[in-house]
Amino acid sequence: MSISENLHHIESEIPAHVRLVAVSKTKPNEQILEAYAYGQRDFGENYIQELTAKAEALPKDIRWHAIGHIQTNKVKYIAPFVHLIHGVDSLKLLQEINKQAAKSNRVIDCLLQVFIASEESKFGLDENEVKEILSDEIIRTLPNIRIVGLMGIASNTDDEDQVRKEFRNLKSLFDSVKQLHPGITILSMGMSGDYKMAIEEGSTMIRVGSLIFGERN
Ligand SMILES: *Cc1c(COP(=O)(O)O)cnc(C)c1O
Repeated sequence: MSISENLHHIESEIPAHVRLVAVSKTKPNEQILEAYAYGQRDFGENYIQELTAKAEALPKDIRWHAIGHIQTNKVKYIAPFVHLIHGVDSLKLLQEINKQAAKSNRVIDCLLQVFIASEESKFGLDENEVKEILSDEIIRTLPNIRIVGLMGIASNTDDEDQVRKEFRNLKSLFDSVKQLHPGITILSMGMSGDYKMAIEEGSTMIRVGSLIFGERN
């Protein structure tokens, strides 16, 4: 199937309120342009250098999502243009994004990445850290940041009950922080292997790569 057929297929399966981020990491610009020609505008990348190079070469109305782990010293490269940063997993990173956003005269939308998997390798904050970052004392110090939601990556396992449980935990944290902070509206969860379940459990934004562009090497 072609990229546009894949996009069409996924779009036909997701409700209108769920945004699809096409994860194009490692894929060439020609394939991104194929998705663009179909009408896709949200693209996600993991590696800052790749993200910056693609943003420079590709149409300016693409909304670039930084979905991977970000080192603080790389923030300056994406601050002038990034649409949404999904992988915010420390206050230190948030402070650097705030600083670089100010230099670009921007307010940058960010998602707090929450650790939900049972694996040790995944990055992310715990529930208390999320609530602490969202406190007035901290938010006050970050005028060039808007925290608009939460993001999580479920365990890479065939155990569907486990994955569902992880999505459910994140949704329940999402609901609870949303009550205190109405600006929290995005719940980024679900990838190629688990996006349907993620949507059943309340996802509003899915990050899908291989199902659109094919397997990565
Ligand atoms: C690579 C990646 C995806 C997309 O993964 P697929 O399984 O190819 O859909 C989604 N989210 C993050 C954070 C990723 O690193």
